[in-house]
Amino acid sequence: MPTIELESMTVAYSVEERPRRRYPAIRVDGQRCVTVLVPTGYSALAIPTLLLQHKRWLLGQLARPGVPLKGFQTGEIFTYLGLPVSLWLTAQASRAAVHLTDDRRLAVQVTSGCGDDQARMVRAALTGWFCDRAQDVLPPRVAHYSQALKAYPNELKIREYKSRWGFCRTDGLIALNWRLIQAPLAVIDYVVVHELIHRTYPHHQPTFWAAVKRARPSMDSEREWLKTHGQELFW
Ligand SMILES: [Zn+2]
Repeated sequence: MPTIELESMTVAYSVEERPRRRYPAIRVDGQRCVTVLVPTGYSALAIPTLLLQHKRWLLGQLARPGVPLKGFQTGEIFTYLGLPVSLWLTAQASRAAVHLTDDRRLAVQVTSGCGDDQARMVRAALTGWFCDRAQDVLPPRVAHYSQALKAYPNELKIREYKSRWGFCRTDGLIALNWRLIQAPLAVIDYVVVHELIHRTYPHHQPTFWAAVKRARPSMDSEREWLKTHGQELFW
C-alpha cells in the first residue's frame, strides 16, 4: 500500500479506479482508511500532489473519532431497515444460526469458541443473515421501480462492495451492496432509483441528477442520510 508523509504523519492509502468518475476523490471511512477514487487513465504520479492539496481536510478527517468497531457482544445495536435491533448471543449450538425475535432482538446461536474467534463467527453469521434479507427485500424494490421508470436491469447482483452502495454498468448489470438492508427503506429506494436512472443517463452530469430528482423528489434527505450514517453500516 502506498504511503505519504503529511506533517510527520505517515498515511497509507489505496487507489481504486472508477471509470465513470470525471474527477478523482478522496474517501476516508469510519476506520480511517484512506481510498483515492480515480477516473480511468488518471496518473498515479498525480495522486501524492492531490493528497497534499487536500492535506488540511485529510488530517481533519483522520483526527475525527472513528466509528467504533463492533465487538459482536450481546446488547450491541445493529439496524435492520433503519430500525434498531439488539444483538443477543444465545446458548451454543452445533451450527451458528440467526433469527429476529418479535421484540427486535437479533438472536444468534453461537458455536463453541471464545474471544476473537467467537466475534468472527458472530460476524460471519450476521453477515449471512443480512445478506439473505437483502436478497429477499432488494429485488422486489428493483422490480417495482423498473416498472415505474420503464428502465430495466439486464442482471441484478447483490454483493459486498467496500466503498459503493451500488452501480450500473453500461451492459445493464445493476449491482447493490447488501449492507443497504440496514438502511431505511426510503434510502434503499433512493439507491435503486439512482442506479435505474443510470440505464438512461450513464454518468453523473446535471441531466442525470435532474432525472433522479424527478423520480425521487426526497433524494436530498436520503443522500444526506447516507452521508451521515453510511459508515455505521460497515462492520
Ligand atoms: Zn451513480
